[in-house]
Amino acid sequence: MTQNLINAIEKSKRIKMSVRYLGERQYLVITPQNHNYVVRFETQDGLRYGRCTCKAGSKGLACYHLPKAALVDTAIQTMSH
Ligand SMILES: [Zn+2]
Repeated sequence: MTQNLINAIEKSKRIKMSVRYLGERQYLVITPQNHNYVVRFETQDGLRYGRCTCKAGSKGLACYHLPKAALVDTAIQTMSH
């Protein structure tokens, strides 16, 4: 894990965000500042890849929206298998 990703996970634990499932493994993440970002996941070769529409995410950096949406994605994937 990169330091960038570790920081993102820590930040996602501190900040209260709401996540809404949009379908097709897409999630709407709403921050306390009322910013909305869409996180999309796909699985390739058994690994999960996520993309976020925020500034960091569009540069390919790990952002704190991803780990939050990943928790919900994991729950939904577990339920549907
Ligand atoms: Zn993001």
